[in-house]
Amino acid sequence: MEADREEGYEEWRALFAGFLPGRDIRWWNDPDVDPESVRYVFCFDPEPGRLGSFPNLQLICAASVGVERIVADPSWSRSIPLVRMGCEETAAQMADFVAWACLSAHRNLPRILKARETRTWDKFLPSTAVAGKRVSILGLGSLGAAAAAMLTSIGFATAGWSRSPKELSGVRSFAGEEELDTLLQQTDILVCLLPGTPETMGILNAERLAQLPAGASVINVARAGHVVLPDLIAALDSGHLASVFLDVFDREPLPADSPLWSHPKIVVTSHLASTASRRSRARYASDVITAFEWGDALPNRYKPEAGY
Ligand code: NDP
Repeated sequence: MEADREEGYEEWRALFAGFLPGRDIRWWNDPDVDPESVRYVFCFDPEPGRLGSFPNLQLICAASVGVERIVADPSWSRSIPLVRMGCEETAAQMADFVAWACLSAHRNLPRILKARETRTWDKFLPSTAVAGKRVSILGLGSLGAAAAAMLTSIGFATAGWSRSPKELSGVRSFAGEEELDTLLQQTDILVCLLPGTPETMGILNAERLAQLPAGASVINVARAGHVVLPDLIAALDSGHLASVFLDVFDREPLPADSPLWSHPKIVVTSHLASTASRRSRARYASDVITAFEWGDALPNRYKPEAGY
């Protein structure tokens, strides 16, 4: 296994040893590891060429939902199955975060924070209850579907967009490029939970943002590259958008001198929407390995042809 920091490795090892008793579990920088003996890898950000150094590798379990850094390793062979992190805790945390951000957009958190800063008694009320607020989620995968269920239970009028149509209770489904503008025109709060692929990068550009009704909000919890930042800021500054919540950035940590920190209508969070505990992730990866050994279908398998 790759571990981002050596001190985390001992915890990972103990967790995997508990879930996969009798296995030899090693940090992949351990000098005693014989590359030929490695069957499974659990990793997040392998250095280029590393995956190809294990000639008998059978399965890769990603420690994260996004696997861009793993598939960027030119030595990764598409014939080796790659499973993205899909533990329930990841989806539950994301659903919580999206619910918080949507309620914060609904009750105009930036304006509340401004009043706090200036000690102004700024009593304002929303124009409608949540039932009158239309939230649209771009991406109805493992995280988007969980967020949609949470928003529906809160009472938001929820819709979602994906490549293929979905049947999710209480969620209006839109699918494909041709239905995107129609959905945007009916959206008060837009949540981005798409994967990072050539088709989705830059999707939230000036043209798309212009489709949103005046006063809409945007929440990006997926990948920084989904948003064309200058277009987003222009839409905020013109008054077209009311607020923006950003959890993901091209450069992380976001530099202290970034103007995003101080923009009065932007709420910056530190890529904290969802990171499941090591225990949950180790359990999930161990279950995947067990399923693989039993010959069962693998969950959440990365599809190279689709890019997610
Ligand atoms: P999934 O791969 O499970 O789901 C992706 C969804 O996007 C699917 O519904 C898919 O449609 C849809 N989609 C993909 N391409 C297109 C397209 N071209 N047009 C329309 N719809 C498309 O992703 P997850 O739910 O697991 O993850 C979502 C995002 O969350 C990722 O970007 C990930 O990196 C990010 N993330 C962020 C975290 C944070 O803390 N901020 C933490 C964890 C993940 P279909 O169903 O038809 O295939």
